[in-house]
Amino acid sequence: MIAPLGYWVAVAGVLGLAVGSFSTLAVYRWPRGESLAAPGSRCTACGHALRPFELIPVLSWLLLRGRCRSCGAAVSPRYPAIELASGGLAALAIATFGPTWRGVAAALLLLVLVPVVVIDLEHRLIPDVIVLPAAALGLAAAVAADPSCWWVPVAAAAGAAVFLGLLWLAYPAGMGFGDVKLALLLGAVLGASIIPALALAFVSGALLGVVLLLRLGPRARKTALPFAPFLAGGALVALWAGPALIDWYGRSFG
Ligand SMILES: [Zn+2]
Repeated sequence: MIAPLGYWVAVAGVLGLAVGSFSTLAVYRWPRGESLAAPGSRCTACGHALRPFELIPVLSWLLLRGRCRSCGAAVSPRYPAIELASGGLAALAIATFGPTWRGVAAALLLLVLVPVVVIDLEHRLIPDVIVLPAAALGLAAAVAADPSCWWVPVAAAAGAAVFLGLLWLAYPAGMGFGDVKLALLLGAVLGASIIPALALAFVSGALLGVVLLLRLGPRARKTALPFAPFLAGGALVALWAGPALIDWYGRSFG
């Protein structure tokens, strides 16, 4: 690589902001069954078609003080928040793993998790149209990162999906089938680190379940928790600390 790492981190940040801008469209439109491709971005209050200068991630929202330029309706701060998170996570992935296939796979995973978590929190749904292509791309990038060990991401993706699939069959109320498909993407990108990622997701999910049970009593049983945020949290930790966690587990219990 001729350009310094800082250049690639900046490129990833800008591309991440642009993907984040598309994610804001996806989290609004996908649950409503609207097309993600057309028409272009509009004000959800008055239908005003956004002009190019109103579409600059984060900046437009700040310059227009979070209001539609046409009707003055408030534009939720979650739009710039989704864009900032996407830009920041993509930059962080490249800063950590470099402008490599491994960095690309990590950035892809993080960029996809942002809208998936938001949609799961709001609607208890996980969009196949985002997760399945991302799983295929994530697998391709992970194989390209280390072709001689191509079977690691393949086995991790299949293993994670089969594991969650069996749990889903045994206890369908505990998670959705969307989580099973999301596991394909997580396994493909995380490889062996999928094991600490799933362990963290289940432990944190169970802890929150216990807290809800203590606070709400029997009513908590009827409160289904979206599982994607826990899977995303586990993946985030495992992306950076996965090998260290596997080491620690091996030394402590091996
Ligand atoms: Zn408007």
